[in-house]
Amino acid sequence: MSQIVRSKIELKSVIEVIKHANKSIGLVPTMGALHNGHLSLVQMSKMQYNVTVVTIFVNPTQFNNESDLAKYPRTEERDITLLSNAGSDVIFIPSVDEIYNLKPTLSLEFGHLETIMEGKHRPGHFNGVGLIVMKLFGLVEPTGAFFGQKDLQQYKVISSLVNDFELPISLHLAPIIRESNGLAMSSRNKRLDKKEFEKASFIYATLSKSAKSLKGGESPQVIMENVEKLFSKESLLNLEYFEIVDFETLQNISTVNEGDRLALCVAATVAETRLIDNIIIEL
Ligand code: AMP
Repeated sequence: MSQIVRSKIELKSVIEVIKHANKSIGLVPTMGALHNGHLSLVQMSKMQYNVTVVTIFVNPTQFNNESDLAKYPRTEERDITLLSNAGSDVIFIPSVDEIYNLKPTLSLEFGHLETIMEGKHRPGHFNGVGLIVMKLFGLVEPTGAFFGQKDLQQYKVISSLVNDFELPISLHLAPIIRESNGLAMSSRNKRLDKKEFEKASFIYATLSKSAKSLKGGESPQVIMENVEKLFSKESLLNLEYFEIVDFETLQNISTVNEGDRLALCVAATVAETRLIDNIIIEL
């Protein structure tokens, strides 16, 4: 059975005991409504660290859309059962007031990451992500922390925090876990009806096809145009962006060379639900 903690003060004392016993801590931050993607991070953490702390917190400061926050799925009881079965040691589930008892004075800005893809389409989002992750790092003092490749740009933002503040935390990037139709698992998938769920498989299918074309020598420009055309024929889907970027910097590339490591990144809405996905390839 996992230990459930709801207050910062209790968490601090739990962490103190763990640290006193010289045990390493793996942190898995989540917003709940858990699926196998989240549980894969827990499994990875358990393999590498003595104690695994999972946090469940729907962080209001990272939502730039009120209705997205209001509609965000919440399944606390089920999450606790899943995490206990997965062997999480501690589950931290604070309230909004508990986390933001003092309004943050700091705001974080991540340079060029703010001007592309998620940064560009969700202004203020990474400030919220940065604030909550720094709070969780401060509270949990993890040895390592686990993040999913699905949110690749978020991982880069958190890498900036670790590098810029010299945080003594190892970051781990976990592969994307998918539904059987290829759709990347996401808490937001719970909002899709059956037809939307089926249609959403188009996102990964298009990514895979584009990755294959890129490997086959097609130019990034042509691939991007094709993707736009393909999406424009799909009435339920709306393409927000499709980018072919350098894996390290997430900067757009116009020409490719053998050995390049690239990421193909997409954001699209399926009816009312916004989804993101990506593929990493090496040429
Ligand atoms: P979230 O609850 O959506 O904030 O996600 C919590 C963590 O799980 C983040 O690091 C995500 O990148 C990761 N994650 C979300 N979906 C998946 C997935 N399908 N496969 C692997 N990790 C995921």
